[in-house]
Amino acid sequence: MGKKSYLCPVNKRKVLIVGQGIAGSALASCYAKRSDVLLHVLDKGLVHGSSVVAAGLYNPIVFKRLTSSWQASILLDSMRNFFQEQEKLLGERFLFDAPIYKLFTEQREIDFWQKKQKEPELSVFLGDVEPVCNTLMLGAQIIAMAKVLQSGWIDVAKWLHAYRQFLLGQNILRQADFVAEDLAYNDETLFYKGEQYDEIILCQGAVQSKFFQDLPFNNVKGEVLTVQSNTQSQKTWSKDIFFLPTAQTNTGFLYKTGSTFDWQDKNTLPTAQARLSLEEALQKIWQADYTVVAQEAGIRPVSIDRRPFLGRHPSIKGLSIFNALGAKGLMLAPYYAEHLYKHLEEQEELSKTVDIKRFERN
Ligand SMILES: Cc1cc2nc3c(=O)[nH]c(=O)nc-3n(C[C@H](O)[C@H](O)[C@H](O)COP(=O)(O)OP(=O)(O)OC[C@H]3O[C@@H](n4cnc5c(N)ncnc54)[C@H](O)[C@@H]3O)c2cc1C
Repeated sequence: MGKKSYLCPVNKRKVLIVGQGIAGSALASCYAKRSDVLLHVLDKGLVHGSSVVAAGLYNPIVFKRLTSSWQASILLDSMRNFFQEQEKLLGERFLFDAPIYKLFTEQREIDFWQKKQKEPELSVFLGDVEPVCNTLMLGAQIIAMAKVLQSGWIDVAKWLHAYRQFLLGQNILRQADFVAEDLAYNDETLFYKGEQYDEIILCQGAVQSKFFQDLPFNNVKGEVLTVQSNTQSQKTWSKDIFFLPTAQTNTGFLYKTGSTFDWQDKNTLPTAQARLSLEEALQKIWQADYTVVAQEAGIRPVSIDRRPFLGRHPSIKGLSIFNALGAKGLMLAPYYAEHLYKHLEEQEELSKTVDIKRFERN
């Protein structure tokens, strides 16, 4: 494809997406396919968002209650299709069929798993209970494990950087700060820094936007560690924390482990407290030696009812939001980006569960 010009040919709709995290990227991919749309994406840098911190796990199960997560099957289908398309487009692999194993320490946990396995909705996600492999270096208190079917891992940071290069190459992305005061509007249209747009969609994650400040966010800070070890452990597992093999380097094997949940602390600085709690949890289960090589923190954008925020601003024509993907951004983003796109471009009705109108006062 040739480079697009910033001059807008007549008859093209002009769309600006603010933010290139998981949300903005998924939405941009819907618009980027349209030859009759001139798309711009504005992002101040991936390091400012939570998407590059995300471990990248996708898991259709809520372990706490052993239920399937909200809309798991349809979200997974859409997510797989989306990443297969991205792999084709960008010529790299992002989606890995690396299932999560739930670890058990007590017989009653195994009994509960096996009971839940009989429920039709869960049988497609709960694998059989298996003996523990010695090669995983797990403590003796782990008595069995079971695979979460259809779970896996997406190399999010690799995908976001590759998609960013694609958007830059197409002259779609500008690395810059979106300044709310530079947005002007009248009854008919929107202008950003004097440039006219038909649609502006804010996908800014946990960054508070003055245009949607009444929406009830309940954001949660999270931290993850990257550890390096000479010991190879090939399976992803979960027991209080997750443990995810990510890479092999010249100096050893790399794993991610996390994550914490903190509703009070709202900055993105790593903390000694989170490191200590993650290391304590890891050492309880994993018997190999390791060193911590990185610690990252991010803020998950979460709504008070834990459903995404989609929809148009109540009074500014052309301004919309796509946000609050919470702790399962990877599963939610592809399906709900398309849902919002169809609402904005094809006038399809938004589901009431995600429409921000659910918080409008009568
Ligand atoms: C520790 C941790 C672990 C996680 N693990 C997982 C996981 O394993 N699986 C999973 O599915 N989810 C996980 N998540 C959740 C996931 O990270 C979020 O759901 C997702 O990142 C939200 O994406 P987003 O695009 O809405 O926001 P962000 O990723 O925050 O993206 C917002 C983007 O907007 C840009 N931006 C903001 N304001 C401006 C501005 N004024 N001008 C220009 N650009 C701007 C930012 O630079 C950023 O690039 C995890 C989160 C954390 C914190």
